[in-house]
Amino acid sequence: MDSNEFRRQGHAIVEWIARYYENIEQYPVKSRVRPGEIMKALPELPPSGSESFDRFLKDFDEIILPGITHWQSPDFFAYFPANSSPPSVLAEMLTSALGAQCMLWETSPSAAELEERMMGWLRVMTGLPDGFEGVIQDSASSATLAALITAREKITGFRSNREGLRESGRLRIYVSTQTHSSVEKGAGVAGFGRDNMVRVEVRNDFSIDPEALERAIEKDIAAGYIPCCAVATMGTTGTTAVDPLRPVGEICRKHGVWLHVDAALGGTALLLPEMRWMSDGIEYADSFVFNPHKWMFTNFDCSAYFVRDAASLIRTFEILPEYLKTRTRGQVNDYRDWGIPLGRRFRALKLWAVIRSYGVEGLQSMIREHIRLAKMLAGLIEADNDFELMAPVPLNTVCFRYRPKDMGDEETDRLNEKINHALNDTGKIYLTHTKVHGRYVLRMVTAQTNVTERHVLQAWELIKECALSLSSQDRAVDID
Ligand SMILES: *Cc1c(COP(=O)(O)O)cnc(C)c1O
Repeated sequence: MDSNEFRRQGHAIVEWIARYYENIEQYPVKSRVRPGEIMKALPELPPSGSESFDRFLKDFDEIILPGITHWQSPDFFAYFPANSSPPSVLAEMLTSALGAQCMLWETSPSAAELEERMMGWLRVMTGLPDGFEGVIQDSASSATLAALITAREKITGFRSNREGLRESGRLRIYVSTQTHSSVEKGAGVAGFGRDNMVRVEVRNDFSIDPEALERAIEKDIAAGYIPCCAVATMGTTGTTAVDPLRPVGEICRKHGVWLHVDAALGGTALLLPEMRWMSDGIEYADSFVFNPHKWMFTNFDCSAYFVRDAASLIRTFEILPEYLKTRTRGQVNDYRDWGIPLGRRFRALKLWAVIRSYGVEGLQSMIREHIRLAKMLAGLIEADNDFELMAPVPLNTVCFRYRPKDMGDEETDRLNEKINHALNDTGKIYLTHTKVHGRYVLRMVTAQTNVTERHVLQAWELIKECALSLSSQDRAVDID
């Protein structure tokens, strides 16, 4: 592709993106294709000769787009926000144009220094303690794995990387029953063994019970285990519960346990001073991760990982083959030593574009509005006799179910599952479910970049209509 053709296609694609964002509400939010349908439309073998880019774009529209679920639609209320935004998209174009590998300072000094500066900005924006240093990772899963491995190294006197894990089967990790699956995956990968992840009971609001945590640690010590790491969650995946950092941190400090805070979803709310109650006790944390690629309008991937003691992180991951030795080593950050992959994308650029484009106040007002919308929806649900709020709503996620009077739990589960599928099949909104106290509940996240009160109210009307019509159908069948 020569430069004229690149320019022509590039303009067309920017035009495509602008139109896509303008018309996004017209697409069915959840893709309707069946398994295998897209594969069938794709040739089994690659073309031997060159094809025109126009044909590529035509196929993108005709084959690919129908198989896309529209995460950037303001009617997307499922899973979690994976927000993008125009400044993020534009900066990402520049990142891919530069195609720089940002593993060492020397391989692009601007990338390393902008990353250092952006992590400083994020630290101040979220009110994390002075002295925390950060690095951008691809995902919270990777950051949590890095935390587990660093905790493991620290407790074994930095021997396990070299000698293998002699303490295998004895090192323990503590989490709540609501912890994200990435911790269990990490426990396996980091050599702890998944069975050595201890799941501690939660309180009524689904946050970890600190007394139960301490009992679990003491029981393990008595049985000869070595408590190594605890993961507290700021915004659990199911109900966005917030673990109390201060009592958890005090227990960890007392027993020499590494405290990692998984704030993948919820951490963005720390931009709001009124939400800083969540980080009370953060001074006890050894590491902290949150995802600008979830709720902070920065397209995937961009996960902000902070550590209290960067030297331990670097000591855990640094490996220095001859070809990576540089004259600037020790004076600057070589981020390949701050995580698992060697190759790294220039991810700080989109973060810079987003923060400058919205400003801290702009970001705050969007996040504040998302939380307001969740609380508004929770209020509507509570005021409706046929619906039931199933968990507190501290952040952007509402768990609820339809429960007509005198309907049993089993039947209510089945009905809510039907409602969920019927709603998603309309293409008008997309929401997912979770289990709360073993019951099937609908889960609605009000944190997409462009969601407004109108979208939430329309969704609520649709949910009520759908619930009513399905439950009257059910009753008609009963009468038959
Ligand atoms: C989304 C999420 C993760 C995983 O994040 P990735 O960046 O996709 O790895 C981990 N923990 C919590 C609490 C999450 O919400």
